[in-house]
Amino acid sequence: MQVITSVKDIKLKVKAIKDSQLTIGFVPTMGALHEGHLSLIHTAKKENDEVIVSIFVNPLQFGENEDFHQYPRTLDDDCRLLSKEGINALFCPDRSEMYPAGFCTSVVLNNLEDMLCGKSRPGHFRGVAVVVLKLFNLIQPDSAYFGQKDFQQTVIIKKMTRDLHLDSTIKVLPTVRDQGGLALSSRNAYLTELEKRDAYCLYRSLVKAQSMADSGIRNAGKIIREIENILNSYKTVTIDYISIVNPETLESVQEVQSGSVVALAVTIGRTRLIDNIILA
Ligand code: AMP
Repeated sequence: MQVITSVKDIKLKVKAIKDSQLTIGFVPTMGALHEGHLSLIHTAKKENDEVIVSIFVNPLQFGENEDFHQYPRTLDDDCRLLSKEGINALFCPDRSEMYPAGFCTSVVLNNLEDMLCGKSRPGHFRGVAVVVLKLFNLIQPDSAYFGQKDFQQTVIIKKMTRDLHLDSTIKVLPTVRDQGGLALSSRNAYLTELEKRDAYCLYRSLVKAQSMADSGIRNAGKIIREIENILNSYKTVTIDYISIVNPETLESVQEVQSGSVVALAVTIGRTRLIDNIILA
């Protein structure tokens, strides 16, 4: 596998692929790869001639008191995994390559960036948008692959792609969960055994939301209160938000319908976890 760290070299690699008339599938990640990332990679491989994976722990999307420094970095293991998967190009630039001194450009997503996770993570989605835009400019993917787990992120990336006339198709794939339903996340590594056991209540509460909707309950407030009760019965869990939203505008809905998204964020111990379900 070619491990590319410079902007100059990734441009050369992309030019060579484009000159050969091959399609590029792109999977942007922050590394510490798990089955969730692999499901994106597998689909990207099926649908494209070449797949480029990026690993970059993007400082711009972390708040001052967040876990940028603790974020798991397992580059050697990740490289082994990607080689085994038959990936032939990994882009893993360092910070100065992505943000040379004096870098000052931002991407603002009016409305969308301040909702849901944006409320307690100011600046987070501007950081996400700018890094994804830079990566798209470098890699010029035909298709780029994202996980539904980060639902708000997928909405923002799709909107940015449309608003800025970017030439990539955004593909969103289902959340990969462990056997108990916990959404896989690099941050799960922070959880103690007890916290992890409690973290299963996130998915259980989302399943409950679906079953309430299935039984004909349309009142979003009622469903939210039920989720709140479930989550609040765990001492380790502190709720950040529980919302039921329109999948495109992210505005709260009063009445749930098929396609409404139940999204939540909690802290368990020192770990912030998010999850969501798109109601059937
Ligand atoms: P991250 O490395 O956490 O920035 O994630 C990189 C990509 O993998 C994002 O598009 C995530 O939404 C996606 N991803 C992370 N966890 C999962 C999961 N459990 N299932 C599916 N996709 C995921």
